[in-house]
Amino acid sequence: MTEPWPADEGARRADALFRRAFGGAPDGVWSAPGRVNLIGEHTDHNGGLCLPVAIGHRAYVALRARKDGSVRVVSAQHPGDRPATLAAPITPARAAAEPGWPAYVFGVAAMLRARLAGTDPTADAHPPAAVPGADITVDSCVPQGAGLSSSAALECAAACALADAAGADIGDPSLRRALVDATRTAENEVVGVPSGAMDQSAALLASAGHALLLDCGDGLATPVPFDVAALSASLLIIDTRTTHALVDGGYATRRAECAAAERALGVRNLSGAVDADVAGLADPLLRARARHVLTENARVRAFVRELASTTPSAQRLGALLDASHASLRDDFAVSTRELDLAATAAREAGAFGARMVGAGFGGAVLALGPDGDAARIAARVTVAFRAAGLPAPACYPAQASAPAGRER
Ligand code: ADP
Ligand code: MG
Repeated sequence: MTEPWPADEGARRADALFRRAFGGAPDGVWSAPGRVNLIGEHTDHNGGLCLPVAIGHRAYVALRARKDGSVRVVSAQHPGDRPATLAAPITPARAAAEPGWPAYVFGVAAMLRARLAGTDPTADAHPPAAVPGADITVDSCVPQGAGLSSSAALECAAACALADAAGADIGDPSLRRALVDATRTAENEVVGVPSGAMDQSAALLASAGHALLLDCGDGLATPVPFDVAALSASLLIIDTRTTHALVDGGYATRRAECAAAERALGVRNLSGAVDADVAGLADPLLRARARHVLTENARVRAFVRELASTTPSAQRLGALLDASHASLRDDFAVSTRELDLAATAAREAGAFGARMVGAGFGGAVLALGPDGDAARIAARVTVAFRAAGLPAPACYPAQASAPAGRER
């Protein structure tokens, strides 16, 4: 199992890399978490509900402001690279022309410049803030491409660092909502990944000991107490290390199928459809896709109700995870042999429930197990993978952790 770094270790790493790469001390260190979605999969792009938690694995960013307006960035995860540099003026178009991972950081800088400086008339009203140029180093224990949203962790840590350096109050909830919008837009328009706002919302708006109920229809974000210790439970993420690419054909096909079901039902998004109308859809494939969205929204509501009850039960929460997995496998058809095996093996090892998380076609499984059992379940799943001739999965313990903020 790969534990997250303690916060002081992450901050020390980003700080030390800064001194090596740029010389002298940074102005500060900021961090942002990866996330895992407890329940509510493939509902975000259908105007539905999801329930992410921020996890303990975080990206750490050290920053020192520059007067010349340019941005330089180095990442410990790309040790061979010389600092990537984008000279002023930092604009979304110029950031988008940069190849590779630095576009994530340049994109955030460009979007913040446009929005916090008040030059974007569609942005929320904020005191105009002059986002400076910056030297930035990154070190992160969020695994990349495992579906834990290393990209949003990087974007949101950089956004907090730049906004703080600009003199904005990064504790202000309305500023945080503006950062969600800016970082998501950077990922969509600069990097070119057509993702929803779940990852950035979790990184910036979640809180320790809570999940974040997101209504992707109206954009409302509500904290929901989620205390795994009080449930005598633990969370385990099992990354099957099989391909996970949001831009692959399977994801696009599902989106197109949902759009076709919306047209057939005459609704603006599937979450607004009625059960009886979905049951009456002539095309069995569209019927199954729509049914997943409606039943998954219902499972998110049931999960939240269970958490809010006087005696929440890990068994009942686990049963909802199992039902979510079955629906993603059978109705939405996005599971794989590896994901099914990880979920089944986790249950056989004593988990209350387990489900694939993320878009599917590979990626990770989330298991809710008895307290103190995460390592044992991880070991049992690894044995099952070996027996099936599959490479060992990567396992991460998860806790509902703190949102993005300043470390030092
Ligand atoms: P996920 O967000 O699920 O981990 P993505 O494909 O959305 O997967 O994002 C992974 C990409 O984000 C990486 O390929 C890289 O470009 C960028 N990235 C994430 N973390 C870092 C990091 N610490 N340093 C440099 N780039 C990073
Ligand atoms: Mg991502």
